[in-house]
This record gives sequence, C-alpha cells and structure tokens, in this order.
Amino acid sequence: KGLQVAIDGPASAGKSTVAKQVAKRFGYIYCDTGAMYRSVTLAALNQGIDVHDQAAVAALAQRIKIGFEPGEPEQRVFVDGKEVTAAIRSNEVNANVSAVAAIPAVREEMVAQQRQIAAAGGIVMDGRDIGTTVLPNAQVKIFLVASAHERARRRFEENQRKGIATTTLAELQAAIERRDKLDSERSVSPLTQAQDAIRLDSTHLSIAQVVDEISAIIKK
Ligand code: C5P
Repeated sequence: KGLQVAIDGPASAGKSTVAKQVAKRFGYIYCDTGAMYRSVTLAALNQGIDVHDQAAVAALAQRIKIGFEPGEPEQRVFVDGKEVTAAIRSNEVNANVSAVAAIPAVREEMVAQQRQIAAAGGIVMDGRDIGTTVLPNAQVKIFLVASAHERARRRFEENQRKGIATTTLAELQAAIERRDKLDSERSVSPLTQAQDAIRLDSTHLSIAQVVDEISAIIKK
C-alpha cells in the first residue's frame, strides 16, 4: 500500500512526464486527469455536441467509459474501448477542453471517478485540482510550474520530435497562456496551489532533477 501523490500546475509544465516516472519508481499507479477532460471534449466534438451545451456535455461525461492502459512512451487512453491516445492531443481539443472542464457537472463526474481510482493509495495523480479538491488529504502535494516561454519551447520541441503539425513558438505560447487564464479564472475548482503543496519551478531543471526532488519528498 502506498501514498497518494498529487501533482498540479499549469499546462505543459511537465506534470505528466514527471508523474509517470515517479509512479514507475515507486510502483504506483499513474492517473492523468487531464486526459479524462480531453476524452470528454473529444467525444463531444466527434458527436457534434456543442461544448457550451452544459447539460448535453454533462450527460455525455456520465455516459462514456474512459479507460487507461500502460504504454510507452505515453499511457494509452480509451473511450468506450476505442483508442484516443493521440486524438485527445489535437489543437481542436486543446482549444475546447477548458470550456468542457468549466462545467460543474462534468467536474463532479470526473472527480468521483478520480477518487475511486485513488482510493487504495499507491497513486500519482496529475491535474489542476488534485491537491485542492480531488485528494485534499494526499500525503504529498506538488505544484509544478515553469515560465510560459519555457513551457511553449518544450511543447514545440516535443511536437517536432513526434512529427505533430505545430504552429509557431509564439502562437503555441499564446495558446498555452490562454488555457492557463481560462483554467485559473473559472468559478469551479480554478487552478490554484493548495496551501500545503510544495512549489517546484522546473524552468531551469531537467526532468530527472524534478523526478529526484519529488522522490526525495515522498521518501521523507
Ligand atoms: O493537463 P492537461 O493539459 O492535459 O489538461 C487539459 C485541460 O483539462 C486543462 O487545460 C484543464 O482545463 C482541464 N483539467 C482540469 N482539471 C484537471 C485536469 C485537467 O480542469 N484536474
């Protein structure tokens, strides 16, 4: 049996990469909660449901079955048995996910599922509201930040490495900042650092350094 580790922070701060490696090191489960909101968004787009139709999106969130399977380099994500690992990272999903995540009934459903996944402990969960709302009693809470410029630069490199069509670096940074603003200003569970979270700025740190820092905190 292990601890609950919550990792929150703004878009593209490296949460999922770091969380996945920390989970591996301790033999914990990894849960990417952003992938869950992305899955609901993708399903809405695919089914022609307006992301601003709160009742319809909430019903959709309750209807679909989101599943995870281990995978390299990324965890695999499924909606109703169909793989959506790559599709949930599209620019269209990026542009619409904050609207979906701002719907209270959608959050209620996702938070309930997330608490169930984390109930037994031995979990690293990343997102925006894990330390504040989903797992307020988590033994370890990290708030991972990096400058907007550095986050855009990392995402740009990642897109190029993966051969994903990308916009200019400046446009990428603008899109990241737009999402941060929407996530921070929404009325339900806005992105904020939990009072008891440890803030880590990864702007000048490597992935390995961040993983080591968090691992040291877990072992304390
Ligand atoms: O972490 P990621 O960038 O994949 O998350 C996508 C979006 O999902 C965020 O911009 C945010 O709007 C939403 N989200 C959230 N709460 C979480 C995780 C993600 O609102 N716990």
